[in-house]
Amino acid sequence: MLENKHRYNNVVQMLGFLKDRHRKRLKARPFPNEWVKSIKNNVAFFTRLSGSDQAELLDHVQIILAEKNFEGCAGQEITDEVRVTVAVQACLLLLHRKTDYFPRLLTILVYPSTYLADEQRPITAEIWEEGKSHRAGETARTMGSMVLAWDAVKSGAADPSDGKNVVLHEFAHQLDYENFAADGTPALATRKQQLAWREVMRTEFASLRAAEATGIPTLLDTYGATNAAEFFAVSTEAFFERPVRLRSQHPRLYSELQNYFRQDPAEFSAEKRL
Ligand SMILES: [Zn+2]
Repeated sequence: MLENKHRYNNVVQMLGFLKDRHRKRLKARPFPNEWVKSIKNNVAFFTRLSGSDQAELLDHVQIILAEKNFEGCAGQEITDEVRVTVAVQACLLLLHRKTDYFPRLLTILVYPSTYLADEQRPITAEIWEEGKSHRAGETARTMGSMVLAWDAVKSGAADPSDGKNVVLHEFAHQLDYENFAADGTPALATRKQQLAWREVMRTEFASLRAAEATGIPTLLDTYGATNAAEFFAVSTEAFFERPVRLRSQHPRLYSELQNYFRQDPAEFSAEKRL
């Protein structure tokens, strides 16, 4: 029994070694100029990053493009522009961290524009409203796939500070799934970090719910009041798009996200200073 476990661990270690070696080779590939051009045209935050962050981001993009499958739906063509515009935004979530590149995600389905979907959304903890709503994207823990609307991907990338970015939102869900639960808590290194994270998120989530119920305007999109998983996705959008205001209005939330993402987007944000 023990011997089997030992052998299993050796195999896992070997596979990990081979995967790392393959990824290193992918990163060493030259990055086509056309791709850089598409990124600079479409993704407003890119040129605001430092040179070393830009280089790290492009390395990550090579891995995503090699490992994830893109499929066009409803007539959407999958061009290199589509692939790099999605990938570079997703990879902003990976900077400065050891990562396994969204391991639960295999396929990204791209539609030309926002699509109608059945929606269930809680009004309070007990009452749910059902209906059709326009959607820009979705993903789920067990699907292995993600759906994105190309028009929403492009508009999210073009305006770096309106608080809306469907790619950051959906890929934040994928980070949440890394520890096998869709509970708004991504994989954190220590128990102490998990406890601190849960305490801050619980408090902030409760105050967003209360604000939504009373109609008080909020910096965070009230879609985040749906549940803890949506709260993390919406907070991630605000962290990268409206960091200066998030830091001043929700300092504890900002600090947890800053520790997790190992970034301070207030430094490169295009957000208007108030
Ligand atoms: Zn969501």
